Amino acid sequence: MEQLNHQKYKIAERMIYAGARSPTIAQALGLSIARARKMHKFISNRSSTSGQSPWDAKFFLGPMVMQSSAFANLFDKVCTTHPDDMEAERVLRAYISYILIYGSNAQIPFDRAWNLTIHMRTKKLKLVPCRCCSMKVIVSQLYPRDITICPICDQ
Ligand SMILES: [Zn+2]
Repeated sequence: MEQLNHQKYKIAERMIYAGARSPTIAQALGLSIARARKMHKFISNRSSTSGQSPWDAKFFLGPMVMQSSAFANLFDKVCTTHPDDMEAERVLRAYISYILIYGSNAQIPFDRAWNLTIHMRTKKLKLVPCRCCSMKVIVSQLYPRDITICPICDQ
């Protein structure tokens, strides 16, 4: 572990406490999967859950759209307020706020939250203002902007 710089180690530690799995840590910190696995075991004293991290963008829509939008708005804000942070730190900041808001009702695991930020960067998912209340909601890239309506106004 000593070769890894202190800042990255600290971030890995926080990611693991937030529930991150090895592939996410590897991706976020530019490490090999083997290295990330070793680090996960070293820090948490147990192995990371095995298997691929879930990746589908559809997860964030439908019943999950309010929570995804909440996280996405927090992340969007953090990107503005902390432009010099590493991406992993920004995701952590947004994720911690998201957990504080939703508590035990939080349904987005850290790895999914990380994936959501990638879907936002690649524009597969985007935040669009609701046409009634202007609250920004997560929609798929294919969704026409002018008809976006949030689940609250849609009732
Ligand atoms: Zn609305």
